[in-house]
Amino acid sequence: MSDMKAGTGAAGGNFDVVVVGAGFAGLYLLHKLRGLGFSVQVLEAADDVGGTWYWNRYPGARCDIATTDYTFSFDPELEKAWTWSEKYATQPEILRYAQFVAQRYDLRRDIAFNTRVQAAHWDEAAQRWQISTGDGRTLSARHYVMATGCLSMPKEPDIPGAGMFQGPTYSTGRWPHAGVDFTGKRVAVIGTGSSAIQSIPLIAQQAAQLTVFQRTPNFAIPAGNGPVAPERLAPLLADRDAYRTAAKWSRAGVPSEPTQVYGRYSPPEVHAERFEAAWKTGELIPILGVFADQILFPDSNKIVADKVRDKIRAVVDDPATAELLCPKDHHFGTKRPCLDTNYYQTFNRPNVRLVDLRTRPITTINATGLQVDGEQIDVDAIVYATGFDAMTGALVAVDITGRDGVTLKGKWAAGPITYLGLMSVGFPNLFMVTGPGSPSVLSNMMVSIEQHVDWISDCLVRLRKDGMTTIEPTPQAEAGWMQHNQDCAAITLFPSAASWYMGANVPGKPRVFLPYVGGVDAYRRACDEVVARGDLGLRRSGPTGERCNDGLVRRLQPDVQMVLEMLAAMNLPTFDSMPPEHARAFLAQLNAARPPGPAVGEIKDGTLPGAAGPLNWRLYRPATPGPHPVVVYYHGGGWVLGSHDSDDPLLRDLCVRSGCLIVSVDYRHGPEARFPAAVDDAMAALRWVSANAEALGGAPGPVAVVGWSAGGNQAAVVSQLARDAGGPQIAGQLLMTPVTDGDRTSASYKENAEGYVLTEALMKWFFDHYADEADRHDPRIAPIRAKNLANLPPACIVTCQFDPLRDEGAAYAFALQAAGNRVQHIAARGHTHTSLSMVDVVVSGEPVRAQMAAALRGFFAKAAVTA
Ligand SMILES: Cc1cc2nc3c(=O)[nH]c(=O)nc-3n(C[C@H](O)[C@H](O)[C@H](O)COP(=O)(O)OP(=O)(O)OC[C@H]3O[C@@H](n4cnc5c(N)ncnc54)[C@H](O)[C@@H]3O)c2cc1C
Repeated sequence: MSDMKAGTGAAGGNFDVVVVGAGFAGLYLLHKLRGLGFSVQVLEAADDVGGTWYWNRYPGARCDIATTDYTFSFDPELEKAWTWSEKYATQPEILRYAQFVAQRYDLRRDIAFNTRVQAAHWDEAAQRWQISTGDGRTLSARHYVMATGCLSMPKEPDIPGAGMFQGPTYSTGRWPHAGVDFTGKRVAVIGTGSSAIQSIPLIAQQAAQLTVFQRTPNFAIPAGNGPVAPERLAPLLADRDAYRTAAKWSRAGVPSEPTQVYGRYSPPEVHAERFEAAWKTGELIPILGVFADQILFPDSNKIVADKVRDKIRAVVDDPATAELLCPKDHHFGTKRPCLDTNYYQTFNRPNVRLVDLRTRPITTINATGLQVDGEQIDVDAIVYATGFDAMTGALVAVDITGRDGVTLKGKWAAGPITYLGLMSVGFPNLFMVTGPGSPSVLSNMMVSIEQHVDWISDCLVRLRKDGMTTIEPTPQAEAGWMQHNQDCAAITLFPSAASWYMGANVPGKPRVFLPYVGGVDAYRRACDEVVARGDLGLRRSGPTGERCNDGLVRRLQPDVQMVLEMLAAMNLPTFDSMPPEHARAFLAQLNAARPPGPAVGEIKDGTLPGAAGPLNWRLYRPATPGPHPVVVYYHGGGWVLGSHDSDDPLLRDLCVRSGCLIVSVDYRHGPEARFPAAVDDAMAALRWVSANAEALGGAPGPVAVVGWSAGGNQAAVVSQLARDAGGPQIAGQLLMTPVTDGDRTSASYKENAEGYVLTEALMKWFFDHYADEADRHDPRIAPIRAKNLANLPPACIVTCQFDPLRDEGAAYAFALQAAGNRVQHIAARGHTHTSLSMVDVVVSGEPVRAQMAAALRGFFAKAAVTA
């Protein structure tokens, strides 16, 4: 290759952009920026291009995303000029591709090989980066890009005595270029991650004896490698542009249609059919998406994990070895599953042995082999397949010092902090490609690399056009993005695994979920929005002054955002555009499409005597032994819509979580029965349930009242009326996003007037159908206006950030507290008026619903103590 390496000798100099790394990211950056007229120098520690595919030459090294997807798409002519030979190309072929790209665009002339960057310091006076290399050169650059790779820093073996071994040792991440012949040798492979799973079958074929040392088994599925299947290639060949666009707007960077099928709510035959279909593809994306909820809920995940374990048991002859190879310490997909070719079959070979380091740890490595639990295992060679200091390792290995002497390593001591995974406060003009806080390793990285390179390039072009020289995120924007990252991870099972996504494989590394889990599509939308909203969250400066457009690109909970986007895309009619009877039918139709919520012990329907005739009720009984404390529930729907069964999933959830028996009661609605009909019914229902609590199988003693929205209003109102009437006794009132006033003038009404399902216009429609203007300050509509707010039952009031009713809920909590009542106020960040009720859809609502359930239990515990 050396004749092709034109750029080996770049000395110091001044550049618009210095890029570190000549993997796929560095190569595309160089090509793109050069084409835009920037002077660019790439610095690369290796002696050629390729990055990952230059270093990882171990036997069996391949990609695990089909190569037709794991390929550059920025130039259709490049795509025409290159054909992949297999579904999953080998390392030599992918390296040849990187070299082909370098050659085609004449990239090597601007790459300095054998050049390791050691330090980069921001020079505030010059407004430039000073970059120092291992061989003593210094370069100056306006912009500095770390294209250093997420998996480029192999983890050093941390086993006692590692240096004592007399034979050769190899690291999969730094494999000798000439290859290794293990014929007739006794070989140890330490580690069972992706590189080990790829190399073990091939090493076993050569070695006289192979001992595999496993600390944590990983899930692997058979790759089914071979020529690319025609049906897999067909959509790409039919319409390349559409295919590549679909990849860019997919969740993981590979075109796919996400399923709506929930594992927890589908029957075993659907489980089997969907799993087998995904298994047969031999691809990661289908097996990671057998069910819409498999990365959200353990029960759904277990369906997939159990089936993979069964596959392992079916292949491995020795049951004890099979059990050791079955992962049981993490949910499927929370560590990157591997693709294998005969991995599990390899353990049926007579020359292969598995040692479980969990029960028999390596005590030391010595001159001739490894000591395990008192046993000496002599070997001729050791292969370390121990993984990488992922995502941050290569970034903090360079001494990067930003403004005011702050180092990146110091700033990130408790975990990386970035804006969009692209930039970091205090480090002007520093960019990262696929940095922590971007989808990176959770995606087809070619798609993510191209997106980052395009975004950075466009950003530099905008700066140049606007006469600006520096760019840096604002602290608020960065903190907001980090919060959003955490919010995304928190709704999944990912943080539950001790994975390298969490930094858990490197001793002492902070446990933070590193990549952005919200998806390639959602991420791209956020990045595009930052630009469309005038470089939101970025401070830019130049000779003509400074422009700072502070703000947060994402404030909603990620799943709430997703639901809102889905609803917007469906372009549904609004309730307030219909007559009430149509709106009721439409609500019933929408409700029918919801996941049902958890199973409870019993559901029973009946009627009770209302103020003007029978009212329906539905009872939810926990599966636990009773009798259970009793709750009266008033449904939402603006006194116009909804019924005793319209909040079904929410009530099942609350029943299971709280252990309370819930009686959801109907009440008459406007416009047919206007105020105060609903209140009269609410009181009648409270009286009847209280009187019949034991007959319904509930516990004796006071009941609690719960309501959502207009139902929250009802619960608040009956709490006041029951106090005034001297009964029934109420143990507590749980008000979820309640209406507490008849005015629609609060700041939250203005801020959230539109766009969050419950609109100002819809609230007006509700009020107009329910009550005359003259009645709207009556405390039976506006409980906050009651003259006496003292001596009310303990309250828990839930408000949502993006709800027109937020401020009046908060005001009622404040007023109740001021009047001497016991009040808990739960302010749900990033939620809307309706999102907390979306059980199994809006998972970020779970902690709030758990708090609500705890509050309910607390009411009854307190009532018991008082009694
Ligand atoms: C075995 C293996 C298989 C993989 N398979 C897939 C796959 O199938 N699909 C997928 O999407 N991703 C896969 N990946 C992830 C892979 O890393 C990316 O897809 C991609 O190759 C990363 O390209 P990059 O240019 O960002 O980084 P890299 O390819 O890692 O390149 C970074 C370069 O920066 C250089 N560098 C780092 N620090 C310095 C420094 N201080 N000074 C000078 N040079 C420096 C390194 O030498 C390296 O050449 C795989 C990774 C591994 C290890």
